[in-house]
Amino acid sequence: MTAREADAPGEAVPGSYTLDTKLSGALGGRTAQALERAFGHRTVGDLLAHYPRRYALRGELTALASLPLDENVTIVAEVLEVRVRDMRQRRGSIVEAKISDGTGILTLTFFNQRWREHDLRPGRRGIFAGKVGDYKGARQLAHPDYELFDESIELGANDAATRRWVEAPIPIYPATSTLASWQIAKSIAFLLDGLGTVDDPIPIEVRAARGLHGQREALEAVHRPEREADWKAARRTLRFTEAFVLQTALLERRAELRAHHAVAREARPGGLLERFDAALPFTLTDDQVDVGAQISDDLGQPVPMNRLVQGEVGSGKTVVALRAMLAVADSGGQSALLAPTEVLAAQHLRSIARMLGPELSVELMPTLLTGQLPAAERKKALLRAAAGQSRIVVGTHALIGDQVSFADLGLVVVDEQHRFGVEQREALRLKGAEPPHVLVLTATPIPRTVAMTVFGDLDISTIRELPAGRAGIESHVVPLAEKPGWRPRVWERLAEELALGRQGFVVCPAIEPKVVEDDGETDAPSDVAGPATSVASVLSELAAHPRFADARVAPLHGRMSADEKDATMRAFAAGDLDVLVATTVIEVGVDVPNASVMVVVDAERFGVSQLHQLRGRIGRGSVPGLCLLVTNSVPGSLARQRVDAVAATLDGFDLAQVDLELRQEGDVLGADQSGGRSSLKLLRVARDGDVIADAREVAETILAGDPGLAAHPALAAAVRRRLDDEASGYLSKG
Ligand code: ADP
Ligand code: MG
Repeated sequence: MTAREADAPGEAVPGSYTLDTKLSGALGGRTAQALERAFGHRTVGDLLAHYPRRYALRGELTALASLPLDENVTIVAEVLEVRVRDMRQRRGSIVEAKISDGTGILTLTFFNQRWREHDLRPGRRGIFAGKVGDYKGARQLAHPDYELFDESIELGANDAATRRWVEAPIPIYPATSTLASWQIAKSIAFLLDGLGTVDDPIPIEVRAARGLHGQREALEAVHRPEREADWKAARRTLRFTEAFVLQTALLERRAELRAHHAVAREARPGGLLERFDAALPFTLTDDQVDVGAQISDDLGQPVPMNRLVQGEVGSGKTVVALRAMLAVADSGGQSALLAPTEVLAAQHLRSIARMLGPELSVELMPTLLTGQLPAAERKKALLRAAAGQSRIVVGTHALIGDQVSFADLGLVVVDEQHRFGVEQREALRLKGAEPPHVLVLTATPIPRTVAMTVFGDLDISTIRELPAGRAGIESHVVPLAEKPGWRPRVWERLAEELALGRQGFVVCPAIEPKVVEDDGETDAPSDVAGPATSVASVLSELAAHPRFADARVAPLHGRMSADEKDATMRAFAAGDLDVLVATTVIEVGVDVPNASVMVVVDAERFGVSQLHQLRGRIGRGSVPGLCLLVTNSVPGSLARQRVDAVAATLDGFDLAQVDLELRQEGDVLGADQSGGRSSLKLLRVARDGDVIADAREVAETILAGDPGLAAHPALAAAVRRRLDDEASGYLSKG
C-alpha cells in the first residue's frame, strides 16, 4: 500500500474552506504534516500556490537517456517488460520492470512486492517518480512511486472523451522523495473541490483591462487544466497577481516607513557642508549634484528618508554620502556609516578623513568603531559616539551592538545593501530618539524592475556618469578556443605594463587546483565545466617566466588571514608589489590608481556583474586601464556571450541588463528564488519586467486612493498572507 492510498481523502464538501484554512483541518494531520515538513505549507492558500513546475502529456514520453543521477524525477513512460526473480543471497524476491520512452530504458526495482508484477504489465503507461540511481552502469529507480494511466482508455482511441483525457496536461509538481507529484495533485484537487469563493485581490476593472481571469478560475486552471491554453492563461493571471500583491506590500511598507516622524536636517548657511564644498578639489558631476539635491530634499523633511543610491565603483557615492553627513552635522546630528567588512570600514574612515581635511576632521572627529578594536580604543570610540563628540562613526555590524549608543543619530549610511538585512537596519533605526534617515549605497547596478522588486520600499537615485579625468579602460577578449597561440601574448602585455612602472592584477577562479573561491555570492555561473585555473598555477607560471624574473608577485585570496590580506593589499597600494594574483576577494575595496592592467583567466567562470566589478579596480587614476578577458569558451555559447558583453561596454547599467537577460531564470535574486517559501513563485524578474512595472503602477494608484486598503479587503488579505508567509524571508532581504 502506498502513502497515497492510505491517506486518500474522501469527497470534499464544496465551500468547506477558504485560503486561510489550516491544512491540518482540511486534509488530515498526516498529509498536512508531510506537506509542512516538505515545503512549509500550512494553509490551503499555501498549497494552492504550490504551482506545477511543468506539465506532461499522457501521450508524451520523457527522454530517459538524459536523466540526471541522484535527482528526484517524475517521468511519463511505458512498461516494456516485467520479471520476478528470487534473490540469491537472501530470502525474498525482486520485481524488475523495464520502462521506456521508445529510445532509453530505465529499470524499476521492488523488493518483496511480487504483486507489482501484475500491476506493471507490458504496454501500460503511467507516471513514475523516484530518485535516479545507478546499478551496474544502468539507470534505475528503486522503489519508485508510480501512477498508471487508466487502462480502459485507449491512447489511440478517437472518441471525444478519450481525446480530452489524452490531451489533458498532467501537472508535475515540485515533489520530494516522500511526497510524489500526484499525491500533491490529489491533495490540491481535494482542496479545489472544497474551496469556497475566493475573493479577488485584483479589482475587476484591472482584470478586465488585461484579460485576466478571476482567482478561483486561475487556480482551477493552473492545477487542473484541460488543455495547454488553460494553464498558460492561468499563469498569466497568477503572475500578475503575484507581482501586484508584492508591489502593494512593498509600497505599503514604504508608506509605513514614511509614517514615522523624523528630525528634519538641513545644512546651515556658512556651515560645515559649505566649507567642505568650498574646499573640494573637483567639481561634482551633474549626477552627483542631482542625487545630492534629492537627498537634501529628503533630509529636510520631517519623515525618515529611505533612499538607495546606486552608482558604479568610483562614481563618487562616498562623496555624496559624506555631503549628507555634513548636512546632518550642520544641524547638530551624528551619522553612522556601516560597511560590510572591517577592512572596508577602515578604508572608509581613511578616505573620509582625507576628504574632510585636517580642520573639518578635528571638528567632526570621524571615529572607527568595529569589533576588532583593542578594548581601550573601543571604549574611547563608544564614549565619543555616546557623547555626540564624534559626528561620523564608521563601523561594521558591531555598530548595531547593544552597547553602542549615540547622542543624536540623524543619518545611517549603509554601504553595500545586499549584505545587510532589514532587521539590522531596524536595530540601528531604534538607536535614535526618532528614526534616523537611511541612505543605502550600492555599487551593483540594478535594472529598474529588479530594483522595484528587491528594493521596492526604497526611493532610488542613480549616479550613472563617472567623474571626468579618468583615462578609461580598454577591454579585450582573448579567445583561446580559436586562438590558442595568444596565451603567451597575454603575459607579454602584462610584462609591458610593468615595464612602464605600472601594476597589475591576475584574477583566477580557483585558489589551488580544485579549490574554488566561494565568496558566498551567487553570481558565479553554473554552466562551465572542467578544472578552473588557480592562483597557485598562475604563480608558478609567472615564477618560471623570464619576463617576470624581477617582478614582485604575491597571491591574494580568501584562504589568507584577514591580516595577511590586509598586509598584501597595503603593500600593493604602496607600490611594493607589482602583481597580485588573486581571486574575487579583490572585488571590493582595493583602490590603487597605478594599477593599469587586469588579466582575468577563465573569464567565463565569472558572472557579468562580477567581471564588471573586478574591472573597476583598474583605470582608477590617470593611467589608462587594460583588461584582458582570457577564455576557453566557444564562440556563441552563453559563457562566451557573457565575456563578450563585458568587453563590449563599460556601462554597468547596460551590463546589468545583459546579465539579467543571459542568466538562467530564477538566478536573479539568488538561491532563495529557486525554492522554499520565501520566494517568488511564477514571477521572474528577468522576464516579467513589464508585468512588474504594470503591477506597481496599479498598486500605486490603488494605494493613493485607499491607503489603508479599506475598500480592497481581498487585496489587504492577500498582502497580509504574503507578509505572514515571508516574515523572515524575501521581503526582509530588502
Ligand atoms: P564610490 O564611493 O562611488 O566608489 P568615491 O566617492 O569613493 O566613489 O569616489 C572615487 C574617487 O573619485 C575618489 O577618489 C573621489 O575623491 C573621486 N571623485 C568623486 N567625485 C569626483 C568628481 N566629481 N570629480 C573628480 N573626482 C571625483
Ligand atoms: Mg565608495
